[in-house]
Amino acid sequence: MTEQEREWNDAEWLRGAEWHLVAFRKPRLNWDHEHCKFCFQKIAEVSLGDPKAIQVAYRWSEHPHENANRDEWLCPSCFREYQKEYGWSEVVKP
Ligand SMILES: [Zn+2]
Repeated sequence: MTEQEREWNDAEWLRGAEWHLVAFRKPRLNWDHEHCKFCFQKIAEVSLGDPKAIQVAYRWSEHPHENANRDEWLCPSCFREYQKEYGWSEVVKP
């Protein structure tokens, strides 16, 4: 684990965080993908044309009802793997 990853993994917001399972939509024209914070799995819309990217992932946002705020992404397998350890919950409502 790199220094940066360790810092992220120890971040306070991560404990007990609430995640929304959503289809990735690019927030801006030139911002067309994200990466899972734990394994760097690429997350993008189908239109990006990357066969390795996944389209649906877990999103955490500091302000879920506003755009262009700080948010973080996790692929579904990392969510399942670390859910208990970090006490995460899955929020069904958008
Ligand atoms: Zn992942």
